[in-house]
Amino acid sequence: MSETSFAVIGGGILGAAVAHRLLETGTADRVTVLEKEDALAQHQTGRNSGVVHAGLYYPPGSLKARLCRSGVGLLRDFCVEHDIAYREIGKVLVALDDHEASRLADIESRARANGVPGVRAIGQEELHELEPHVRGVAGLHSPTTAIVDYPAVTRRLAQLVEEAGGIVRTGTEVVGIDDRPTGVHVTSRSSAGTQVETFGRVVACAGLQADRLARMAGGGREPRIVPFRGEYLTLRPERRDLVRGLVYPVPDPRYPFLGVHLTPRVDGEVLIGPNAVLALAREGYGWTDVSLKDLSETLGYRGFASFARRHWRTGVAEMRGSLVRARFVAAAQRYVPELAYDDVQPGPAGVRAQAMDRTGALVDDFCVETSGRITALRNAPSPAATSSLAIADHLVAGIRDDIGGRRTS
Ligand SMILES: Cc1cc2nc3c(=O)[nH]c(=O)nc-3n(C[C@H](O)[C@H](O)[C@H](O)COP(=O)(O)OP(=O)(O)OC[C@H]3O[C@@H](n4cnc5c(N)ncnc54)[C@H](O)[C@@H]3O)c2cc1C
Repeated sequence: MSETSFAVIGGGILGAAVAHRLLETGTADRVTVLEKEDALAQHQTGRNSGVVHAGLYYPPGSLKARLCRSGVGLLRDFCVEHDIAYREIGKVLVALDDHEASRLADIESRARANGVPGVRAIGQEELHELEPHVRGVAGLHSPTTAIVDYPAVTRRLAQLVEEAGGIVRTGTEVVGIDDRPTGVHVTSRSSAGTQVETFGRVVACAGLQADRLARMAGGGREPRIVPFRGEYLTLRPERRDLVRGLVYPVPDPRYPFLGVHLTPRVDGEVLIGPNAVLALAREGYGWTDVSLKDLSETLGYRGFASFARRHWRTGVAEMRGSLVRARFVAAAQRYVPELAYDDVQPGPAGVRAQAMDRTGALVDDFCVETSGRITALRNAPSPAATSSLAIADHLVAGIRDDIGGRRTS
């Protein structure tokens, strides 16, 4: 089987971007995307904040920092070329007190080290000019942070894959991967039954199922995916003018997520959130979605036990915020005091695929693992949608090196 025939597992933004890049670079002459849902972008890609992060927070030199910065440029150019809405509405990080204000300086220097353009500290007056309804003692302004429609980007990438001769097959779940001398045998299930196909190479971009697919392909048991649900409220249409751009808290360095923020979307809606609660099912979006398999895997994982011991207080507070809407609204009211309980309505929810190691540490950086002829993306949390085209470049460059290395060895 020729090494240039590829299966890409997962029809989120990363699977679509990798499939496109494989064909664009001539690394593949045949690509088949296999997606278990009936449509693309049904999980993280279609259930996120829609923010194009500028790269403020990430440790300089990390893959997140590098691929986020290059990803922003690639994504902006892609949207211009394909007429997809991309709006640089800017973002302010808002400090509520002097202690938070002192943390802004560190974020500003990280942002500069990462090459984020135009980032600057602002005082109360300028904060008021930018966001008249927002209260804070100081801020950090990132004028190039943008919003975009990630499912639209995914659909366009998939369309380009098909135009280049690739196949995009939805409703097809991969249930087995076997790397044999004759090629990689991929077993999948669809309404047409079970079939086994042989490919030269396989790339898995399976999001919330990333660890399971990697294990299926012979990879290590760790890191595991621990699913954290993020719930949103939305502003009632008549109150959408409470914010002009993106309004974020100063992130708490002890905590992995960015905190409840206000996010206008390209369709005009304004999201408030997301919080972070343990999801009771990897692909479950409410408290009543429970998968015993997913839940027992998470609760039985010793990494999760030590994570829970360290973070139980935050976990309980987030759960209260999820169950009691007034608490959720109160978190946003700290930034927008005029916001009233009746200004919000229930919104969507997403589940973050976050890799965790056996010590309970969250894997911070993007993580790609190759074994034999199978490459698996094992950790691609935010800002992986922002970085998607750059992650695809990085991953495909690694595959090209590997193929070149095999030929010469
Ligand atoms: C609440 C939330 C907010 C976020 N906000 C942002 C943001 O503002 N900006 C940003 O850059 N990032 C954000 N992110 C992160 C971003 O959404 C993800 O990093 C990105 O979408 C990952 O893309 P993906 O293709 O890897 O995953 P997914 O979109 O989850 O796609 C994986 C696909 O694989 C498929 N799959 C899994 N197993 C199989 C199988 N066995 N066979 C076939 N198909 C399979 C799934 O059905 C799924 O469609 C956010 C995430 C969440 C959850």
